[in-house]
Amino acid sequence: MLELQDLFIAYESGDVVRGVNLKVEKGEIVGLIGSNGAGKTTLMKSISGLVTPRAGKILFNGQDITGTAPSAVPHLGIAHVPEGRRIFADLTVEENLQIGGYRHGRADLTADFERIYGLFPILRERKKQRAGLMSGGEQQMLAIGRALMARPSFLILDEPSLGLAPLMVRTVFNLIRDIHAEGMTILLVEQNVELALKHVDRAYIIQSGQIRAEGTPDYLREQGGIMDAYLGSAER
Ligand code: ATP
Repeated sequence: MLELQDLFIAYESGDVVRGVNLKVEKGEIVGLIGSNGAGKTTLMKSISGLVTPRAGKILFNGQDITGTAPSAVPHLGIAHVPEGRRIFADLTVEENLQIGGYRHGRADLTADFERIYGLFPILRERKKQRAGLMSGGEQQMLAIGRALMARPSFLILDEPSLGLAPLMVRTVFNLIRDIHAEGMTILLVEQNVELALKHVDRAYIIQSGQIRAEGTPDYLREQGGIMDAYLGSAER
């Protein structure tokens, strides 16, 4: 479904993604695991069109989407829940969800709201509340809900556990599991290795902009030494 081919991405300081090859097949949940500054967010931004690779290709369902404008990416069926959530704090929960739906240009969002409220009952309870007043976990659920409003076929989740209390992390990851079980293809970015390995079909380990290992959770756990070497400050 998604394929990154020999991708290089540079900022003024130089290359921060260096020759990345990565694949996500339809129906999979795949992890991208690495410590701070490894290049994870940059890689996700390239899929969403927010940064343009200096070399390499991004294929989505076989189509070359490298350099597609960010505004066109949701129409391909790709939704991105960014690191830090980026919800609209002054708008209500429902208004935030509405914005996710508008991206798809449908007039009647009733069915979409119902689907999201079915997955996240707390959002129904809070629908008239200002989003900025909710807890971090609730805001994360809203960010995921807003992404799902666009009816994507491919979901990018950038560090959904960041800043959440352990109980809330469990709640959010159970929801991610439910969304995946419904058939969503997911690329999950995480610093927390064990958390990621518990929830993915396969994972890639990234360090200094390069993929250092890839495989199933069982395989990667067996490579404990390699993971320690590459994950540095990442939580183990
Ligand atoms: P984190 O978990 O901390 O977000 P990450 O793995 O997502 O880390 P990136 O945010 O992709 O890493 O950053 C990769 C490298 O690129 C880092 O060295 C970072 O300082 C640098 N970088 C990120 N964004 C920019 C930017 N807009 N301009 C210049 N350098 C940047």
